[in-house]
Amino acid sequence: MTAIQNPLRIVILGGGFTGASLAWQLARMRLPVRLTVVEPRPELGRGLAYSATDPAHRLNVPAHRMSIDPENRSDFADWLAENPDLPDPQATAPNGDLYVQRALFGRYVAERLAPHLASGAVRHIRARVSDVAHGANGDLLLLLSDDNRIHADLLVLASGHPAPALPRPLAGLAGSSQLVADPGDAEALAAVPQQARVLILGAGLSAADAIATLDRQGHAGQITCLSRRGLHARGQGAAEHDSQADFTAPPARRVSDLLRRVRHAIVDDQARGNGWHATFWRLRAQAPQIWAALDMTERRRFLRHLRVWWDVHRYRLAPQTEAVLARLTDQSRLEFVAGHLLDATRRGGGVDVRWRPRGRSQPQQAHFDRIIVTTGPAQDRCIDANPALGALARLGLIVPCPLGLGLATTEICRALDAQGRASNRILIAGPLARGHLGELTGAPECASQTSQIAREIARHALLGPILHPAATRPAVTAGHTPPLS
Ligand SMILES: Cc1cc2nc3c(=O)[nH]c(=O)nc-3n(C[C@H](O)[C@H](O)[C@H](O)COP(=O)(O)OP(=O)(O)OC[C@H]3O[C@@H](n4cnc5c(N)ncnc54)[C@H](O)[C@@H]3O)c2cc1C
Repeated sequence: MTAIQNPLRIVILGGGFTGASLAWQLARMRLPVRLTVVEPRPELGRGLAYSATDPAHRLNVPAHRMSIDPENRSDFADWLAENPDLPDPQATAPNGDLYVQRALFGRYVAERLAPHLASGAVRHIRARVSDVAHGANGDLLLLLSDDNRIHADLLVLASGHPAPALPRPLAGLAGSSQLVADPGDAEALAAVPQQARVLILGAGLSAADAIATLDRQGHAGQITCLSRRGLHARGQGAAEHDSQADFTAPPARRVSDLLRRVRHAIVDDQARGNGWHATFWRLRAQAPQIWAALDMTERRRFLRHLRVWWDVHRYRLAPQTEAVLARLTDQSRLEFVAGHLLDATRRGGGVDVRWRPRGRSQPQQAHFDRIIVTTGPAQDRCIDANPALGALARLGLIVPCPLGLGLATTEICRALDAQGRASNRILIAGPLARGHLGELTGAPECASQTSQIAREIARHALLGPILHPAATRPAVTAGHTPPLS
């Protein structure tokens, strides 16, 4: 009875895929909680990845592996089959797998959540959390960008990917028309002239998205991608049987052993007619156990030496995007260059750029009309980049992950505070918890993690008020009040 009269107030900060999938899982459990998602975007579930409006931006994972429900892996593929009129005629890859436009996945997640929003099981507040303070009753008080305040007994941080940081040599170009500082800025990309010589910093999936956008816009100029090693994301390969490789029994304690085992597994998979892609699916599935077995020194070793190789094999191109890159490369309009950016100076309508090619001491220079930064989310500055996380850090309630991969958490995703204690009030969901789990970027991994968090919350919501009745509070209060100090 106590639990029903005083429902636990759960606030999810951020309603991208992570926040939406957690809200969906909690709503289905019909817990005695009051569930609020604070997210400025109009629809829950889209976030950074699935707000994409460019039809050239596709899922890089086949539809049958994408789902909001980790217990029903085919849910998205089933939804697509139920909606055969969806406008994506180029979705089918040569091997028959579907790589649909990312916007469609966003629509699917929003539709799955819609009944729970309509029933009131989930409340969406369209605002940003701009400040946080301790509430009078031991809860948390959140100040929203619309000047309302809400209380949270349990706060789940699902604020996802911070914006990319501007590389230091480009600081002098900030705000100039020659610089596209955020590849998610569709307007800035649309303004790139068709004949422009373009330098893209970075060579991962965001670079591939930017190239696909330029190509769709009819871009005819030269594109150079500069990254430290000149590597770029790999393609998908043919349809595979599942790999039988086992990296968990027991998991390697050293990165060098892990690398040896991966190489052997790839050889075995190839002998069975699979490509390395199958081995990587297996690695991805077993990543939490693999990561857990490595100590901090070995994790750092992985990040220093192997991360770039992991990234280009793990974060693969949709076949349609791969085809664009291959065509432009064949036409000598796209090149991948390995080097270290030194400086960039405005001249005329463009920019003179100097970089040191990898393995050489003599810098190289070229003139570009536009520079697009695709160096990825600045996970190491997630606290500085988000006022809500900044406020929590100032209160000593969260601390950065020592590996620079988001926030420090326990294995069940409770935030670690400045004293190293596991929080009872703050949980971390999605890519912000990557440092602890190793691999937590793709939608399938985020859905698995939110499912675990939902089970954890269920325990808290059902037992917490009974075991600690004083810890529950009256319902949310909202009103126009001055900012928190
Ligand atoms: C461009 C891109 C393409 C991707 N493509 C794929 C793919 O094809 N397949 C796949 O499996 N994975 C893909 N991923 C990875 C994966 O789906 C994402 O990592 C996942 O969507 C993470 O979602 P999120 O909700 O944690 O983060 P985000 O999408 O970043 O969403 C976080 C949300 O939090 C909100 N927020 C932030 N701060 C506040 C605040 N203070 N107050 C209120 N709200 C706040 C933001 O508005 C945002 O909507 C892609 C990722 C990106 C970036």
